[in-house]
Amino acid sequence: MRNTQPAIQLSGVWKHYPGTEDPAVRDLDLTVYRGEILALLGPSGCGKTTTLRLIAGFERPEAGTVALNGEVVASEDRFVPPERRGVGMVFQDYALFPHLTVAENIAFGLGRLTRSARRERIRDLLRLTGLEDVHDRYPHQLSGGQQQRVAIARALGPNPQVLLLDEPFSNLDTELRLQMRVELRRLLEQLGITAVLVTHDQQEAMAIADRMAVMLAGHIEQVDTPEKVYHYPVN
Ligand code: ADP
Ligand code: MG
Repeated sequence: MRNTQPAIQLSGVWKHYPGTEDPAVRDLDLTVYRGEILALLGPSGCGKTTTLRLIAGFERPEAGTVALNGEVVASEDRFVPPERRGVGMVFQDYALFPHLTVAENIAFGLGRLTRSARRERIRDLLRLTGLEDVHDRYPHQLSGGQQQRVAIARALGPNPQVLLLDEPFSNLDTELRLQMRVELRRLLEQLGITAVLVTHDQQEAMAIADRMAVMLAGHIEQVDTPEKVYHYPVN
């Protein structure tokens, strides 16, 4: 049975970028339970990335609240910065540092640790993501799948309770995409981490997620199991 403790809760969240007509996110409600993998599915421009950025703390809502593990992290009178939210984010383009090696990229996300604790943590993360053999390479010397794993390892560095992944497979070719799907699902299950994964591919969402949230024009229209969204789509 699913854990019923909410890890992420957005209530009545609005975000309107300056100089734009329509809000990027409007009256958004979303609950993600602990240990759950939720796919956020919707067409380009519907507000998926903005939703992740609001959860991570890279954007501040104009109205509504964001809570993580029961603690309000964004509201009218409160704003917890990203580094204190326990949220890891994997950006769509991975955002790796080109002049740093794999191990150095991963080390970047780690807070203050002793030298030996740091070395041990990097070794664990390299092992977890299967990157031990390429630890001293630079991003341009890696395959797309390896680059993605570096981004994931870096995001996992500070032991986040929540992992957000913005279209994690969009830079991969079809075959690799199918393989990485399975790998990512296995990794997330192994960690027992709460994850939100953005995609505009319904098949991908069905393959990886426990539940799917369908987003349209800044609003979440439906949240359900992949089977139910598939058989009874509201849109
Ligand atoms: P998605 O990830 O679903 O493609 P986004 O969250 O990136 O959607 O964008 C939602 C809407 O907000 C779009 O109309 C987009 O053009 C707009 N938008 C996103 N980021 C900015 C920004 N920094 N400044 C102005 N408008 C933005
Ligand atoms: Mg996006």
